[in-house]
Amino acid sequence: MKKFKFFLILILTTLIKLSAEPPAGQIRILVITGGHDYQKDQFDQMLASLGENISYKIAELPAAYTMFLPQNRDKYDVLVFYHMWQEITAEQAIAFSECIRDGKPLVALHHGICAYDDWPEYYNIIGGKYFHKPTVFNGREYPACSYIHDVHFKVKIADKGHPVTAGLNDFEIFDETYKGYYVEPGVTPLLTTDESSSNSVIGWAKKYGKARIVTLQSGHDVPTFQNPSFRKLLKQSIEWVYNSGKNQ
Ligand SMILES: [Zn+2]
Repeated sequence: MKKFKFFLILILTTLIKLSAEPPAGQIRILVITGGHDYQKDQFDQMLASLGENISYKIAELPAAYTMFLPQNRDKYDVLVFYHMWQEITAEQAIAFSECIRDGKPLVALHHGICAYDDWPEYYNIIGGKYFHKPTVFNGREYPACSYIHDVHFKVKIADKGHPVTAGLNDFEIFDETYKGYYVEPGVTPLLTTDESSSNSVIGWAKKYGKARIVTLQSGHDVPTFQNPSFRKLLKQSIEWVYNSGKNQ
């Protein structure tokens, strides 16, 4: 009986140990929030719907700055930006940009495009920037951008051969639009729209250092969180950026 108990404990501790480690093929995403409200329950439901191969944790800025430090970079595989944070110190900026440049993949959503009015390197990381005020960037002056809530519009697939848009057709969305924001020349456009209150390119892929990046304009609120095409885009964006180390 004693022996049996010993083996039972051994089996149980092994099982507990195994479950603490991510299964092979598991993608651990770290969602960075802060600086903008959102519907947390429905946002979590969207993240939970992405499939068994994707698990998530949420970290809110400014506390989340520690997650960019070298000792914490192994705790997640892909960054997802859903923050609109503004303040950053020189030291934080170095850890942040190095983390991604050294190969941490990133998917940036919606108001992530509006963060860091005074940190231009961020625009180089995500390949875009919504300007809250007239801004000079790369020698060009951009006027303040504009936004409109609750717009029904059509999202067009610009690159049907790209893994991020695989299996997707043009789709309708009900979301906030942004207009007049900077998009880096040389990005790969993935999504466009003819909607007049929006930029025409509303989703793109690029690289920053060793990391693959996907940026998507959409993602303001619950109708988008629940949109099956948006969920598929988000899932495939996460999977594609994650694969960057393997395919090149
Ligand atoms: Zn918004």
